[in-house]
Amino acid sequence: MSYGPREVLKGLDFEVRRGEVVALLGPNGAGKTTTIEILEGFRKPSDGEVRVLGESPLTADEAWRSRVGVVLQSWRDHGRWQVRELLEQFGSYYAPYATPDHPRPYDTDELLDRVGLTAQASAKVKSLSGGQRRRLDVAIGIVGRPEMLFLDEPTVGFDPVARRDFHALVRRLSDLEDTTILLTTHDLNEAEKLADRILILNHGRIVADGSAASLAEQISGTTEVRWTHHGEAHVHTTADGTDFVRDLLARHPDGITDLEVRRSTLEDTYLAMVARHEQSDEPREVVA
Ligand code: ADP
Repeated sequence: MSYGPREVLKGLDFEVRRGEVVALLGPNGAGKTTTIEILEGFRKPSDGEVRVLGESPLTADEAWRSRVGVVLQSWRDHGRWQVRELLEQFGSYYAPYATPDHPRPYDTDELLDRVGLTAQASAKVKSLSGGQRRRLDVAIGIVGRPEMLFLDEPTVGFDPVARRDFHALVRRLSDLEDTTILLTTHDLNEAEKLADRILILNHGRIVADGSAASLAEQISGTTEVRWTHHGEAHVHTTADGTDFVRDLLARHPDGITDLEVRRSTLEDTYLAMVARHEQSDEPREVVA
């Protein structure tokens, strides 16, 4: 994908399996929003091939759209509508696409309960708090019981409690409805909490792909050893910290001080990866 002469997605290639929750994780400017907008059909890619639920988002019809949920950045319109009215209105657009196996839209009471807005059912949209409004965004995104849900930076501006509640809501959607979810975030914690699989995107390339556990495992071999010898500080990164430390002490039986051994965390790896790609725009090896 290029904006004018500027290529912002470079040979991006990935698949998301049905029922998976996948986080597209990366710093600002990595290309997350561009990717998700292409998948939603809001943006035309300059090249390449895209399929969502088997169809090209740009040419897919209304029936396809009814199977896809999009949670946009916060809902600003319809301030004078009541929460329940708004959900019923949006829900009515999906009714023609209902089948016996796939009842749509959601029953409004069930939906209100699911997103934690039962008490606000009769409230005007404009009277909602930020967190409640975001939950309404999600309710609007899922009112048609989508098979595939896109969430772009869903918790930006949330306080910790709202964020925790929102994470629980996403997990429930995935567990109870088997909704396939693709979300973007620049928050590693959020990706770890929510996603079955994390794709780390940097400068328009996928630089790592795996579950949080498998990414952590791949790098758990990395241990950082720091020590001081004759007043000089040293640092060494190694796959086998125990062997290295044994050797180090054998080589310098007297002079080692300030010995520190530390395993890399997923966060270290993420930050290192992002920093490494800040310095160079050349293609890099993919970790997984
Ligand atoms: P992210 O969501 O990861 O922050 P974006 O997809 O928004 O990244 O942006 C990727 C790159 O593309 C950034 O360098 C951004 O400045 C550029 N970009 C995004 N949208 C446009 C646009 N409409 N026109 C030109 N450049 C854009």
